[in-house]
Amino acid sequence: MIQPDRLDRFFPITYPNGNTVSRFAKHCPHCKQLVKASAMEGMALLLKDKVFVLADGQCPHCQHTFVVKCVIDEYKQVHAVGLPVFLYRMMLQWGARKQVQTFRQQNDWRTAQQEASEQDDSAPAPRGTLLADSAMVQKSDEILGNFMGQPIHAWIISNGQRLVYERAVPPGGSFQLAEQEVLFENRLIYRPA
Ligand SMILES: [Zn+2]
Repeated sequence: MIQPDRLDRFFPITYPNGNTVSRFAKHCPHCKQLVKASAMEGMALLLKDKVFVLADGQCPHCQHTFVVKCVIDEYKQVHAVGLPVFLYRMMLQWGARKQVQTFRQQNDWRTAQQEASEQDDSAPAPRGTLLADSAMVQKSDEILGNFMGQPIHAWIISNGQRLVYERAVPPGGSFQLAEQEVLFENRLIYRPA
């Protein structure tokens, strides 16, 4: 549903009122320097008229790690979230699921799906490589999360090449592989380390 990623990749986000949040940063609770979203790993999700942010930040100045939990309203005011992390994460996952379901009921989504499947025959072959899971593929014990009920391995080794996790296949399945990228099990995209 919603995949943790480097936080800056979730922005810009545009609210229904037209306002856009293009960047996000937070002061390090330890050294008070500004930490950019590119130094955070997590998610930012627009639900109705608010952006919910949950991420782990690592301060590039003092290496202090901290949790970022906040809500950005449609006037770009940032509000702290008092909920414990596990509860907040549950709320976000629930919200994301609900949003995707709502989206799928809409005609746009169905039309997009149809167009995607109609284009399948004529579409050029993906530029990246397809890789199926097998005993030949070594997978890291380090798990970054779950996607479609399966663990996301931080890295895999295939044919002696080490590949690191890049992103998951987006819902709706419309994406392009870069030349170097490897689509693993038709759901996770890796790239050479
Ligand atoms: Zn710091």
